[in-house]
Amino acid sequence: MDIQLLDKELGILNRTGFFQKLKQQYLIDLTQDRQSLFIAMEYECISQLRGVLSAENITWLLIKVVDIYTSCLPSHAIVGRSLKEIDAYIVNFDEAQLPNLIENLTLKFNTPILLPTGQAVEIKPRFISAMTPGVLLHTESPDKVISQMAMYLGYCDQSENKKQHCHLDQVTSQLLNRRVEIDSQILTALGNNEMFLAYQPKVDLTSQKIIGCEALARWQHPSLGFVSPDEFIERAEFCGVIQALTLWVLKQSIETLAKCRVLNPDFTMAINLSATCIETPDFFDEIKFFIKHSDIPPQLFVFEVTESIAIENYELAVEFLQKLRELGCKVSLDDFGTGYSSLSVLSKLPLDSLKVDRSFIKNMLNSDADIEIVRTINRLGHACGLKVIAEGIETKQDMQIIADSIGCDYGQGYYFAKPMNDYKLLKHLAENLKMNSPEKANDLFISRFLSKYLKPASII
Ligand code: C2E
Ligand code: MG
Ligand code: MG
Repeated sequence: MDIQLLDKELGILNRTGFFQKLKQQYLIDLTQDRQSLFIAMEYECISQLRGVLSAENITWLLIKVVDIYTSCLPSHAIVGRSLKEIDAYIVNFDEAQLPNLIENLTLKFNTPILLPTGQAVEIKPRFISAMTPGVLLHTESPDKVISQMAMYLGYCDQSENKKQHCHLDQVTSQLLNRRVEIDSQILTALGNNEMFLAYQPKVDLTSQKIIGCEALARWQHPSLGFVSPDEFIERAEFCGVIQALTLWVLKQSIETLAKCRVLNPDFTMAINLSATCIETPDFFDEIKFFIKHSDIPPQLFVFEVTESIAIENYELAVEFLQKLRELGCKVSLDDFGTGYSSLSVLSKLPLDSLKVDRSFIKNMLNSDADIEIVRTINRLGHACGLKVIAEGIETKQDMQIIADSIGCDYGQGYYFAKPMNDYKLLKHLAENLKMNSPEKANDLFISRFLSKYLKPASII
């Protein structure tokens, strides 16, 4: 065995060696149409022990762990340090044998390991496994298999419920395969005109007048179909495309805002900001550039940032939001009530409004507790000098409780309007103007306006 491919400490393959062997083996497996098992083992105790045990004892312990691990595997298993602490690739593995293998491994590691110093160390391993080619993307490229495995390991790490053994099932595999597709397509989606904006009106609950809207990104992909923002925004962040996407949203919404202002000069446009935008140095300057060159007063732009983003990136968020406000823009705290922010944090964030998360509004009719939560958030917002917006108002009863009993300032939700394209938004705005200020809304003006600015669009 090439010495360069071995981990000197443990005598098993190092990362390069493991991948080299795995790639060779995977290609053979493909031609012979047989199934193999990839199994990764991780344990968190070693990093803690490094501060307590001597380097010799740590090495002794790791060698022991490798011995126990390999004693449970067939002798032909390829074992190495690669994606996790110790990984193995077992060629020609029958999936039905997996529960036995895991049981055996768990049993062996249940007994504490006795160090030469007499100390007993308990290793609590976690196993993550997948059959290949099996549920992993059927691919000719072993590199792709490795990157899919890495993605699956990351997926298992993120899941809140860290199980002792995670095995890649069909459902998770489809989800990951879709993710791979999304990641590879998202960069080109903007250039290919696959993305568009939907606008959802915000309504003044006292006058029922539309005061502005929120721009929501949409993606209609030729083969993936409709990809929801809950799915692609996270991937855009992961792939580093979110900044470009946010600037595209800003640019598109500036065009729509200019048209809306013909009907209502005070109309506001809300744009969502993700954590990665806030963390990017110079991103504020890009926003500033677009706004400065838009001929639209900065106070008509509202930037929404979720409560959890603001809390997790507190220092950066304060700095970024402060700069937006100095520019003259408004700042709103989105999905409030889900991010566990303390009251002192709330009072220190530079804000103009907060949006009560729709999960509270959704349950109000069945839960007095949720009504009281919304009432408390509303009082809290007002006490901090903020406007309060209730999101997710779906029924007339929701609206009545929010407007009459609780007294929020603004509302947003399907009861008023679902997100819609710019053509429908302008028509909707014109109708709302006619209803609320008939003296200002001249039929001829509105129909001239609509025919001048708009061609009916087919989507949404
Ligand atoms: P959000 O900012 O809280 O947007 C409101 C979401 O609630 C929208 O979902 C909207 O369609 C939905 N909604 C509004 N009213 C109702 C209602 O009455 N009932 C129900 N059930 N839902 C309602 P959407 O468009 O799927 O967006 C989901 C999230 O994706 C947004 O939540 C926002 O966080 C994010 N997002 C959308 N577009 C962008 C974007 O351009 N940039 C960033 N960073 N995030 C975006
Ligand atoms: Mg929002
Ligand atoms: Mg929201």
